[in-house]
Amino acid sequence: MGGGIVGLACAWELRRRGLSVTLIERGRPGRESTWAAAGVIAAHHYGAGPGPLFDLLRRSLAAYPEFLENVGADEVDWCSDGMLAVARTADESAELTARVSWLTEAGYEAELLTPWELRTLEPLCTGRVETAALFPADGSLDPRLLAADLESAVRSVGVEVRTDAKATSIETDGSRVTGVDLVDEIVATPAVVLAAGAWCASLAPGFRLPVRPCKGQMCAVRAEGPRRSVNFPEGVIVPRAGGRVALGATQEDVGFDAHIDADAIRQVHRDAAAIVPGLANAEIVETWMGFRPQSADGFPVIGPTPVEGLVVATGHFTKGIALAPVTAELVADLICDGRLDPLLRPFGPDRFA
Ligand SMILES: Cc1cc2nc3c(=O)[nH]c(=O)nc-3n(C[C@H](O)[C@H](O)[C@H](O)COP(=O)(O)OP(=O)(O)OC[C@H]3O[C@@H](n4cnc5c(N)ncnc54)[C@H](O)[C@@H]3O)c2cc1C
Repeated sequence: MGGGIVGLACAWELRRRGLSVTLIERGRPGRESTWAAAGVIAAHHYGAGPGPLFDLLRRSLAAYPEFLENVGADEVDWCSDGMLAVARTADESAELTARVSWLTEAGYEAELLTPWELRTLEPLCTGRVETAALFPADGSLDPRLLAADLESAVRSVGVEVRTDAKATSIETDGSRVTGVDLVDEIVATPAVVLAAGAWCASLAPGFRLPVRPCKGQMCAVRAEGPRRSVNFPEGVIVPRAGGRVALGATQEDVGFDAHIDADAIRQVHRDAAAIVPGLANAEIVETWMGFRPQSADGFPVIGPTPVEGLVVATGHFTKGIALAPVTAELVADLICDGRLDPLLRPFGPDRFA
């Protein structure tokens, strides 16, 4: 249930392992949070530390090249030249230095750069910066292109894709899944993956699934961008094909308010231009927003539920594009082999019971 990056990747993997799969999407696949994402594929972020999420991300990043190859996604603007992060204040510098240190200790490639070294690597990054870092294992892609390729891939391997099909509830016989209710029809099935992103909470039959939307607004400008994505505490700059640069993003707790606010977009543009000054006068060619699925503790919710046959895969928050390959693999392990990978233990919905 749900045709975002998570539902699409799960459908692909389950079909690959021989199951008969139907993807139920209330609109068109890949048009919600997945459509809105910047597309950074990184195993860490501002303020993050080592722990289960880093371990999950790391495994997903390692799986990414093969995942893209398997699904035939060869034109998704994949940039594997690494990601940069910049710090502009003493506090931000301390955070970045600490991050580089724990990542290096964990055996993850990370290198501190002076402002001069940053400019040598990315001559457009001439804004005032105290410290920078290069993370060679991180990258970026265009999530819209990936979702389109994934949709073609799942169709080509025989997944039945039901679009404009809104699921209203998950049917059970009291203890296990029996089907999905589509208002005028029930799709009978012994297994369901609930992957409806920020809309999952109301679809959980009889257990707590505290996931809410976190609104993110972004824009794209027509300009020459840096070669790699550049991350900073307020957002990110991501080069896209066709002379566009994606700039983002806000994080707003405003429910499902889809309004795009000109002031918020101006701020996103200003923040990016403080690092790449050449973006300041660039024309904004597109604005958009999306609802990240954010759980009560900010971590993904992936795992079995009290309802036999029902697996949840949501709450990916700011990392759903990066986490798609590992989510699909571990969800398929659960459904096909009944195997709960130890990596998933901290992420089960039972933590909210
Ligand atoms: C501005 C922004 C920037 C981001 N940047 C990044 C980034 O750089 N890197 C990264 O890894 N992640 C990023 N993310 C996060 C990422 O987009 C999400 O974590 C990811 O897309 C979640 O995927 P999903 O499939 O769970 O949800 P979605 O893509 O939202 O898909 C859920 C799907 O379920 C469908 N659905 C809902 N209810 C029903 C129903 N009742 N019946 C049938 N279908 C239903 C919806 O129509 C939708 O298609 C960003 C998000 C935003 C908003």
